[in-house]
Amino acid sequence: MPSEFVRALPVLQKIQAHGFEAYFVGGSVRDVLLGRDIHDVDIATSAYPEEVKMIFPHTIDIGIEHGTVLVLAGKDLRDDTEHYEITTFRTESKYTDFRRPDSVDFVRDLREDLKRRDFTINAFACNADGEIIDLFDGLCDLHERRLRAVGSAFERFNEDALRIMRAMRFAATLEFEIEPETFIAMKNHASLLTKISVERIFIELDKLLNAEGWRNGMLLLAQSDAWKYLPEFELSALTKLTQELSVDFSFKCSEQAWAALLVRFDKVDVKKFLRQWKVSNEFITAVSSLTEAYKLSAWDLPSLYRFGLEKCQMIDDLKAGEGKAVDFSEAIKINNALQIHDKSEIVVTGSTLMRECNLEAGPLLGKILKTIEEKIVKNELKNDKASIMNFVTENFAY
Ligand code: ATP
Ligand code: MG
Repeated sequence: MPSEFVRALPVLQKIQAHGFEAYFVGGSVRDVLLGRDIHDVDIATSAYPEEVKMIFPHTIDIGIEHGTVLVLAGKDLRDDTEHYEITTFRTESKYTDFRRPDSVDFVRDLREDLKRRDFTINAFACNADGEIIDLFDGLCDLHERRLRAVGSAFERFNEDALRIMRAMRFAATLEFEIEPETFIAMKNHASLLTKISVERIFIELDKLLNAEGWRNGMLLLAQSDAWKYLPEFELSALTKLTQELSVDFSFKCSEQAWAALLVRFDKVDVKKFLRQWKVSNEFITAVSSLTEAYKLSAWDLPSLYRFGLEKCQMIDDLKAGEGKAVDFSEAIKINNALQIHDKSEIVVTGSTLMRECNLEAGPLLGKILKTIEEKIVKNELKNDKASIMNFVTENFAY
């Protein structure tokens, strides 16, 4: 049993001491079996939310309508940073909107809970003795590195089309194959992705792109027709991405991955595209400046000033991944040659110029400041007060 489970054992044991069942479930059990790092330990129980709240003194209702209670560290737990999501066994009735169950019913039977989960490798439970409960032959699938829907694949994707994206994401992150019937059902239900919020689709596609097996995930996106139902997507860009990057290339971060994809679009307004995906403004700014930087054939002082060393290195890494000859020391050298990395580092400010050169606020002052900045960036002017004042007196009549 991994240390994360051992640490959480008192929680399971305390629930059991009150006469209920409790298990580790979901992704953490799968990841333990695969020898991967685990990030969150999910616990499922036959106790109803109100009963969980009576067992533990410190809880927060984080999704009580879905049966989830957050149990916080207290005298039961050893470490005061610990907290666990405890979810009551539940079933999900009809999905009329193809994304959220109309209602969830709490049940006392573990089987009912495991049955509603998406893939067999996500439907394990692990008891306090470390025994794996495997009702759907998930261990066999795990061993053969195969992703298979629990029960009828057609029903599962019809209920919740996000599972189509999750399947491709797991195929990429775990480097698993998708079992043929599951894949056919994904393809058949791909159009239902239009019912799923873009934010949730983005999370899955982003995890897919950041995985080592991203190429496989992208090929599945193409083969399943799912790409057709993603906002503004272009198949040719997806294909080029898989063909033009070397087989062992992994993206260093989300921004790099989305930029690499977007520079391969035939016609795209990057900002508009990303706004449709409802990502943060910060992400939009970062990706669109990467796509601008990508278009340059060589670095110079203004480009390093504009994009910064980190982004230029990200582009170098991407171009090296495309098999281009890249001199990684070039960006560092140019960056070191910059006198300033930000406007605020210019020693003379607008107010100094107004005071000492008798200038007024307005377009001329703006133009002078811009020119000073450009000259300093290109090392045509020294960033010291005497040189700058001299330059202004000589070049601008006032
Ligand atoms: P990750 O490593 O990304 O956390 P995970 O498998 O733990 O992967 P979560 O989204 O944390 O994924 O969900 C926890 C568990 O809940 C899953 O393992 C699965 O059993 C179940 N689950 C999550 N989303 C769905 C879904 N859309 N349909 C069915 N079951 C789901
Ligand atoms: Mg998880």
